[in-house]
Amino acid sequence: MLFGRKKNPFSNTDNFPLMDSVIDFDETLPSIESTGRRQNDTSKTPVKRTTRQKWLIASLMIAFYFAGVLVFYSLSMVQKSTVVVLTGLIAIFLASFYFIFRSGIHLNFREKRLKLPIVTTALASMLVICYLDPATHILFTPFTFIAIAYGMYRISSKEVMILAVAVLFGFALVMFLHYYNWHNLALLKLEFMHLVTLVVSLPAYVFLTGKVQLLHRVLHRASRKIKNIEEDAQRDNLVGCFNRRYTVAALEEQKQLSDENNTPFCLAVIDLDHFKRINDELGHLGGDEVLRTFSQIAQENIRTGDIFGRYGGEEFLLIFPTTPLLPALNTSERIRSQVEVYSWDEALQRRVSVSIGVTQYIPGESVLELFSRADTAMYMAKQGGRNQVVVEEPVAR
Ligand code: GH3
Ligand code: MG
Ligand code: MG
Repeated sequence: MLFGRKKNPFSNTDNFPLMDSVIDFDETLPSIESTGRRQNDTSKTPVKRTTRQKWLIASLMIAFYFAGVLVFYSLSMVQKSTVVVLTGLIAIFLASFYFIFRSGIHLNFREKRLKLPIVTTALASMLVICYLDPATHILFTPFTFIAIAYGMYRISSKEVMILAVAVLFGFALVMFLHYYNWHNLALLKLEFMHLVTLVVSLPAYVFLTGKVQLLHRVLHRASRKIKNIEEDAQRDNLVGCFNRRYTVAALEEQKQLSDENNTPFCLAVIDLDHFKRINDELGHLGGDEVLRTFSQIAQENIRTGDIFGRYGGEEFLLIFPTTPLLPALNTSERIRSQVEVYSWDEALQRRVSVSIGVTQYIPGESVLELFSRADTAMYMAKQGGRNQVVVEEPVAR
């Protein structure tokens, strides 16, 4: 063994010891982004709709209703004045909600997308049009369903129920006003049939939307849990940085990326010096606290994109994607010096330090060869008196 190292953690084969787990891991983890850094599963969650898309969806639904009324008008079943009023109502509706969202008034409400006010206003506007022109009743029932479906995920089941009852009362009121104004029995019968249609279909619809809401909630909770589990699977549960499994998988990925894109990358092996003594004096819990603090210091001093993980015990790996040796050396030196100058507790002053071995990937070599070179450099740092960074030149042996 070189430089008196105690134990070679690898077999003599060229296979990296965690190769199996790397393969499993790849199947469950998202792919790497162009930066070469593994991402959390959030990168896989469906992209949220933009504000413009949300406006487009709402506008399209309004446009379909408007188109229906226009067709009725072209068949001379709807008066011109109704089309004019509808145009005005749509303009006021869009302008009001545009103003509310632009000014930030919606932020004062618990449900910031204001689905309940939007759906209520839409239903009320359709009732006004029904009052002005009885022929538009035909559009009323399907568009009531569409409006409720539009707000389904944001409006509670109780609110949907109240909304449905309000729609029925609103429609009955329109019916009453029509008969009161025109005393037209045939129209009354027709409208009554429409009311009956609503009365028999709305409760079933409300029931079904309740089921969909429930399913939506269950899925939402499940996806949050999966996300947490996936994040936990990447983390070391003692110190909170990436764990061995994740870091080794990331190392394999960096090798592949580097081979594909012909970009450099570096690896540092970091080992806490005389950690056994620290444990002996502070106990394991004290030692654990030192590991946590070191991990924090390291993570504060790496660059965005660098991958820092615990390899095991008091040994850590730091991967520098798309980075040549000099910047990797600088970061390693920064970590070493920050550990040295950190204001440790009285008992630990000038006793916590790290030895770091850094090297650059040689195109075509195995991950094992790369690791061995960095590990050798780390042991040279130990041999040289610890608390230092040693670079192993990337020359193939
Ligand atoms: P060197 O400078 O040569 O690296 O000496 P060292 O004492 O740091 O190295 P050695 O390998 O002899 O001891 C490492 C110690 O780290 C032994 C082990 O008890 C301790 N250790 C490993 N994992 C943990 C851990 O999770 N928590 C604590 N507190 N100690 C750990
Ligand atoms: Mg050590
Ligand atoms: Mg060690």
